[in-house]
Amino acid sequence: MSGFYFSQDKIDEVREAADIVEVIGSYITIKKTGKNYTALCPFHSEKKPSFVISPEKQIYHCFGCGASGNVFTFVMNYESVNFAEAVEILAKRYGIKVKVSSGTDDKIKKSLLKVNNFAFDFFKKHLNNTSGKKALDYVKKRKINRETVELFGIGYAPSGWSNLLNAARKEGISEKLLVQSGLIVKADSGKLYDTFRNRLIFTFYNTRGEKVAFAGRALGDDEPKYLNISETPLFKKRFTLYGLYQGKDAIRKEDRCLVVEGYMDLLALFQAGFKNVVAVSGTSLTDGQAQLLRKYTRNVYISFDADNPGKKAALKGISIFINNGLTPYVITLKGGKDPDEIIKKEGSEPFQKMIKHAEHFVDFKLRYLLSRYDAENPVDRTEIVKEMARTISYIKDMTERQMWVSSVARKLSIDETVLSGYRITAKQKSQFLPSILSSDELVHNLVALISLNPARYNEVYELLEETELLDDVAEKVLLYIKTRFDRASEVDVADVINMYENNSERERITAMIFSLKKENLPKMLTQYINKVKTISLKKRWENLKKEIKKNENDNNIVLPLLKEQQKIASILKKLGGNIDPEERV
Ligand SMILES: [Zn+2]
Repeated sequence: MSGFYFSQDKIDEVREAADIVEVIGSYITIKKTGKNYTALCPFHSEKKPSFVISPEKQIYHCFGCGASGNVFTFVMNYESVNFAEAVEILAKRYGIKVKVSSGTDDKIKKSLLKVNNFAFDFFKKHLNNTSGKKALDYVKKRKINRETVELFGIGYAPSGWSNLLNAARKEGISEKLLVQSGLIVKADSGKLYDTFRNRLIFTFYNTRGEKVAFAGRALGDDEPKYLNISETPLFKKRFTLYGLYQGKDAIRKEDRCLVVEGYMDLLALFQAGFKNVVAVSGTSLTDGQAQLLRKYTRNVYISFDADNPGKKAALKGISIFINNGLTPYVITLKGGKDPDEIIKKEGSEPFQKMIKHAEHFVDFKLRYLLSRYDAENPVDRTEIVKEMARTISYIKDMTERQMWVSSVARKLSIDETVLSGYRITAKQKSQFLPSILSSDELVHNLVALISLNPARYNEVYELLEETELLDDVAEKVLLYIKTRFDRASEVDVADVINMYENNSERERITAMIFSLKKENLPKMLTQYINKVKTISLKKRWENLKKEIKKNENDNNIVLPLLKEQQKIASILKKLGGNIDPEERV
């Protein structure tokens, strides 16, 4: 986990002290139902409770939106804080002393923040100077008002190569730090110069309101039109969304977020009262950005330009949002306009209507497929049905999924069972059956299962090592399980979940553990172990196949290889993982 300030022991101590029922119960209303507790999910809007807390396993899971995790994940997502902050919040609450060590990484970040604050004041000052007249005119022309300029930290970098550089030197800021901040460039010749020259400046804030980076729009003919600073220890592009800091409260309150492409679109929308908006700003949407947004809402409204690149970006955005557990809707802008233009020319009402009529991703996908394929052609038609079945299978809520099956079936004039027939296969596959998981996912699931049955630790460790499937994550988790087991002869699965840094991975594993019945554990472990063996044997098979092909004229080499292949085939048969007939040599 990034920003890991505490020792594992401290983290475990806090986790053990903080009872999940007590903590979640202090944030939302929960109700005892059998041995579990249920609640209306705080991470997606719903009328019937599908959020379940297990006091026994100390984890929670939402059967509606898939949100899941332990007490730390809950505090992180509910309070929109990072892991270290969640540990601190809970430690404080339970009177546990945790010491935050300030590593060199932190020191650099702090110094860079100071440089950014200095640059921010510099850019702000120049927007209001005579030198900034052109920039201010531009801002006025785009109808950006004073309040917005202040709230979003818009500034101006004057023409010339060393305005900021000289000012910073006077302030005693080191050259090394300036270069590290991305605001000053060091040429190969060693000469230093300002990154932004004659540009309107946009400030990037993190969710705590710290100024982490800048971008500049050219006011002259300079290329590129929009220039971002490169990544720094403070600024990771793939985890930053422009406008999130200013919009996060509105996003949470309205439980939806508008996603636009450009800074200007965002500013126009915000000013028109649509404050629940973020911009992906020049880069294509990333998993990190989707995960960041998910802390505030699960409903995203993509409003990209109506041109072809915009449409493609929207489609790509949809799949990234879906894969990260969000529900995307698409706002289609007619006549090639962007949100900025629409609001300027027609006011906020038409845009309000467009939000209301935004297309659910299922409809958008169907419309897209129908524009690309010929629904009258049987081959194309099958493709459309298959694609749509897959798209619908992403909807986790059963009632909602059924509704979409009916709707799409109606639109394609097919029987619902055709679609749900496909859907069920797709669904079966995603139900934690080892067969559909990638080998990484398989290994990570298996390792998490071991925490529930550490007696089989050695068997699994050796298997993963032997098959070379033991990656860093698996090794880290296994080591943790061993340490805990050796010390306390039991392992808390809620602690193990912590070790998985990747959100979707953590959710997958929590969901698996949540739905696992104790009596099925031995069977499931064996299933996973066999699957790992199968993967490794199939790999070996492939290698043998290549070897055989390479030496096909030399019987002395080929015969033993064929024999080994036969042996593998018979083991695989026992494991239930036959080699496909067409894969045979
Ligand atoms: Zn939920």
